[in-house]
This record gives sequence, structure tokens and C-alpha cells, in this order.
Amino acid sequence: MRLSQMLFVTLRDDPADAEIPSHKLLLRAGYIRRIGSGIYAYLPLMWRVLQKVSQIVRQEMNATGAQECLLPQLQPADLWKESGRWDTYTKAEGIMFSLIDRREQQLGLGPTHEEVITAIARDMIRSYRQLPLHLYQLQTKFRDEIRPRFGLMRGREFIMKDGYSFHVDEASLKETYQDMYQAYSNMLRRSGLAFRAVEADSGAIGGSGSTEFMVLAEAGEDEVLFTEDGKYAANVEKAVSLPADAEPSRFTTYEKRDTPGTETIDKLCQFLKCSPTQLVKNVLYQTVYDNGITVLVLVSIRGDQEVNEVKLQNELTKLASNYGAKTIIALDVPNVETQQTWAAKSLPLGYIAPDIADEYITANKQIHPKFVRLADKTAVELKNFVTGANETGYHVVGANWSAQFQLSENVVDVRKARSGDRALHNPEQTLQSARGIEVGHIFQLGTKYSLSMGASYTNEQGEEKPLFMGCYGVGVSRLAQSAVEQSYDKDGIIWPVAIAPYHAIVTIPNINDAQQVEIAEKLYTELNQAGIETLLDDRDERAGVKFKDADLIGIPYRIVTGRAIANGKVEVVERATRKSQEIVIDEVKSTLKQSIAAAIEVKN
Ligand code: ATP
Ligand code: MG
Repeated sequence: MRLSQMLFVTLRDDPADAEIPSHKLLLRAGYIRRIGSGIYAYLPLMWRVLQKVSQIVRQEMNATGAQECLLPQLQPADLWKESGRWDTYTKAEGIMFSLIDRREQQLGLGPTHEEVITAIARDMIRSYRQLPLHLYQLQTKFRDEIRPRFGLMRGREFIMKDGYSFHVDEASLKETYQDMYQAYSNMLRRSGLAFRAVEADSGAIGGSGSTEFMVLAEAGEDEVLFTEDGKYAANVEKAVSLPADAEPSRFTTYEKRDTPGTETIDKLCQFLKCSPTQLVKNVLYQTVYDNGITVLVLVSIRGDQEVNEVKLQNELTKLASNYGAKTIIALDVPNVETQQTWAAKSLPLGYIAPDIADEYITANKQIHPKFVRLADKTAVELKNFVTGANETGYHVVGANWSAQFQLSENVVDVRKARSGDRALHNPEQTLQSARGIEVGHIFQLGTKYSLSMGASYTNEQGEEKPLFMGCYGVGVSRLAQSAVEQSYDKDGIIWPVAIAPYHAIVTIPNINDAQQVEIAEKLYTELNQAGIETLLDDRDERAGVKFKDADLIGIPYRIVTGRAIANGKVEVVERATRKSQEIVIDEVKSTLKQSIAAAIEVKN
């Protein structure tokens, strides 16, 4: 491709609305263009990158025996009502765009395809002989994200590869899951990314596992905890660890203390000269179940620990049936305003004890009359602890479970693991923290959708059984941008060779020099014919501008038909290292072929 004929517009300055380097660079280098909030045009250079990533994804998927298909993006609401997700997706989370057609039928724009694929499996899979089966697609997904940001990282329209597998049992599902683990690792390695596979939260679906593939980068929205020995890595949402030991309490007798102005843990510890590990703090949440019932939640946890809201949400989802509900649609710390909607009298905030009376709640049809009380394991282990006295300005010290406070029947792990904690598998290892961009997620779904939507098969004994299911997603557009987030310098993008839009760019420093032009044209043709994807910068611009642009768009090799042509050579510059060599014109093709093959092969 000739730059003179391309829609090639680069910006000198950082666009105002871009926050992270990859977003700025893709905009500046003319790869993408913002059309609306979370909506981007993939311009020709970007489209080539996306095609390359897609190709790697296809190759790895096909190698596992999965088959490509294409499912509809317009999805009838009825399917989502069958699975029970219509209301959560359109109302509670509101992530799904929905519309009504001319026949007054409700439709959604596909954010994901479990419902569609399960409907197909229900109709078409009859017998164990058809299993296992794995279908995947590469497609644009729609999600009305609350906070679209960082360009392609979190768009409202983005490209995903999603695959769904069906099995006779869990053992077969686990085999495919393992294959996917390998396939995803291959995809990321081949795309030139530094990544970590981490244990991930599977939500309330239950025991089955899930792994996220995280590209390591400061701009990542996720926190990953891992140990140096490589034996443990998890998303902080899921991570477990051993907390630091609690210091023994010096309050050996139970008494109520006047502790004015100690509504925070810090102030209280200073006032009582004690460690936060000797405290039981009681954190108030409110949750709304899918039947509209609000339940007030009190979590007792050791004073130096924080609540992991993902774990808490999972625990509360398990309790949903106690309230005649199936799932949770909201969980948050009630602010003053929302407290007013249910608090019968003002709460002694900062001084709450595990046994705060249910009388604080004004019950009605929508508000459950009792607190649900959860005790985190870290609180349960404490002896002679300090906690609130349910009265502003007062705490109790030297308290014990079973003596002054009844221990909740809901003892749970809702503690947030953090860097510096000791690892469970080996307490000598401490957890370290890194930021990650989630580019892929593989998931053992089990029978969730097959049960709710009635997708079954007949086994060898002629019995009807629910299908076991897995799903596997990789964000193709997010992955492409992540590569930039991991690889750039002050001058621009440094694409990994395997996914660069072009391998090489031939730059003519002076297009009025006939010899420069002739050699450049010859190389351009020759390289492209040899399968080296090459751009030709034949614009009537100053050499400096051309070099700057080549650096900015990040093409791995730049060939300059400059002074060296007097000696029958051209200058070849490697973008990543800036290593410059003068190479005999006739040898450029073979040298580049080798370098490119080597760069791609290392990753294979
Ligand atoms: P996140 O937690 O980042 O919102 P998710 O858990 O909703 O991601 P999945 O539903 O598992 O994501 O989707 C599979 C993959 O699709 C993700 O791993 C990610 O790479 C990509 N993805 C998800 N949402 C977006 C988005 N809004 N923009 C771009 N890519 C996305
Ligand atoms: Mg999401």
C-alpha cells in the first residue's frame, strides 16, 4: 500500500479525551476514530491488526477441533426470559441494548450468546454420540457499559471470539477447558503479549472453575495477586490467602468504654492503644434481590481487613432462596440517603456491634425485617476483642463470641486478600500485586443454561441428561489495544511483529530523487511479492516527517532509500531496538524474511 493513496492522517498532539498511552497512540497514529461514547471506527491499519489477531485466534481454535459459525446479534427476548437473564441484563445491570420491533416484539443486541447457542443445542443435540461439540464465532458484541473508556479497552461495541462447548459430563467439560487453557495461552504468546493466567471468580454459578487471561500493564482495571514461585495467581476478586496473625488482646475483662470521637478504626486504635487486629468491625451493606426485596447485611470482620464485595455478593446469592429470590441485582454500602428509606432510628454508625437490633429496620413489603449477619473467619478467631457498643461514642473491650455475642450461623470467607499476605499453598510465599487487563476468560458453566432452558441429550443407557457446558471468550479488539499498552515508547507504537498491520515500510527521503524512488519502488514490489507486507511512504513530505510517522505507527522494519544507495545499500531500522544496518539492496528481502520469521517463530 502506498501512503500517498491511503487515508493516512496522524496527529501531532495527544487527543484530549484519551487517558492511557495505547488509546492516545491508536488515535494519534490514525488506527481508530471515535464516533460516539464507546463507539469506534477501525480504520484500515487497525483492521489489519484485528484480522491478524483473529487469524491467530482461528488457528488456535481450529486446532482444538472447535468449529467456526456465526450467530445472530439480534436476539429474541424470549430466549433470555427462559434463562432468567432478561431482567438482569436489560434492567438491573442494564448492560444489554434492547429494542422493540414493528411487530411489538422485544429484542436484545447480543452482549454474549449462551442463550442462542443453548437453544441450538436443545434443538439439534439428541444423543451422546454427537458430543462433545464446540462452536465458536468472531463477532461484534454490544454492551451498554456503565463506563466505556480507554478506547477499545471498554467499548460499547467490540469484537469478541466466543465459543461454547457441550459435553456428556463434567470430566469431558474439563478436558475441553484444559485444551482452551492451552489454546488461549498460545494465542496470547503468539500475539507477543506478556500475560498471566489467573483463577477468577465464577460468580454464584458455583463450584466450577474459571480462568482469566490477564495482560500485565499498569493501565489494567484488574488487580492480580500472585506468588513468586509461580504456583498461585488469582484475580483479587477471587484470591485467598492467610491474613497476618492477630496480636493477642490485652483486654482480658469485658467492659464498656467511653470512646468519644472514635468512629474510624484508626481513631479507635489510637484511643485504646490497640492493634486493629484486635477489633471486630461491623460493616453495613444493603442488597436488593431480583424479587425487589431489600435486605440489610451486617458483616463482622477483623479490624485490619477489608470486605471483598465479589465474595460477599456470592455469599448473599447463596442465601437468595431464604428471601424467595434467585439472584442479586444490587449490593452497596447504604449512604445517608438510602439509610433514610429504611432506618427506623438513626444508626450508631462507627459504633455498631455484631448484635445491633433489628429494630433499627422499618420493615415493609420491600424491606426485610431482619439483618442478615455474616461473620468472616478472621473475626470468628478473635478472643477478648474490641467492638462497637451500639451507642455513639462507646465501644466494648474484652468481648468473646458465645459470651457477649452470639456467633452468626453464616461464617464465611469474604475477606479481601492483599499483597503482603502469606500464600495458602506455602506460607513462606507472600502475595504480590500486579495490574492486569482481562483479555480472555474461560469458564466451566456446568448445567446452568441447559437446566434453565431444557437442553438435554440421551446417554448410552437411554436416559435423558442435561448437557454440560463451557464458554470461552477473548476480546479481540481489547487484545489488540493491550499489545500497544505493553509495547510503545516516546515516539509511538511498537507492534509485536505477529500482529503488526504491515511488516515493513519503505521510506523515500526525497521523492524528487529519481534513483531513490526507483530503488524504493523496486523493493516495495519485490518485498510484497515475497509475502513481506510492505508500505511505501511515497508522500511529498520532508524525510523527518516520514520518519516520525513510521515510528508513530509502529511498523517493525523501516527501509530507507537514502545516502547508502550510492554504495548499493539501504538503511534498515528495527523499530523495537532502533538498531540500524546498511544492507545490500539485493539482500534486503532475504534478511527481512529471516528476521520476521524469527520474530514470529519465537512466539510459536
Ligand atoms: P470486564 O470484566 O472487563 O467487563 P467481562 O467479564 O464482562 O469483562 P466477558 O463477558 O468474559 O468479559 O467477555 C469476554 C472478553 O471480552 C473479556 O475477557 C474481554 O477481553 C472482552 N470484553 C468484555 N467487555 C468488553 C468491552 N466492553 N470492550 C472490549 N472488550 C470487552
Ligand atoms: Mg463486563
